[in-house]
Amino acid sequence: MTIRPLVILPDAVLRRVSDPVGPITPEIRTLVADMFETMYDAPGVGLAAIQVGVAKRVVTIDTSKEEGVRDARVFIDPEIVWASAEKRIYDEGCLSIPEYYAEVERPDRVRVKFRDIEGAVQEIEADGLLATCIQHEIDHLNGVLFIDHISKLKRDRVIKRFTKAAKRDAA
Ligand code: ZN
Repeated sequence: MTIRPLVILPDAVLRRVSDPVGPITPEIRTLVADMFETMYDAPGVGLAAIQVGVAKRVVTIDTSKEEGVRDARVFIDPEIVWASAEKRIYDEGCLSIPEYYAEVERPDRVRVKFRDIEGAVQEIEADGLLATCIQHEIDHLNGVLFIDHISKLKRDRVIKRFTKAAKRDAA
């Protein structure tokens, strides 16, 4: 397993729409293993393949809070098939926008259809942090970032800050 470099705002790669996975090849299995390694190393609770520069619809999540306990979940070609009318506000962050947090309102519960690592179709109902996290990661597969859900003023400010930092690093 390899820790892969993270794609950071304002890299245009983050705006790409990812492709369906299709057959689960050895390359996809390696990608999933590397994504978990990268996510745990960061550390983060969720990662989409595009965040390591791969435009495939793959998401890894582990929202377990207890130390030493892992709840590794992989979602291949995930799709929200139902969302609750009730909303919930969560202070979100993103490994591609390091050390920036903002409150985002999303449906409180969602049903998600996806394929597991064996290619079998699964469906789960998620609530709480898992529901927020799945929605955040599926957004990534569509080129959407959590800052797209906040005010334009705040979004422009954070993009400007990261653009400056990227220029500084490149200099
Ligand atoms: Zn993210």
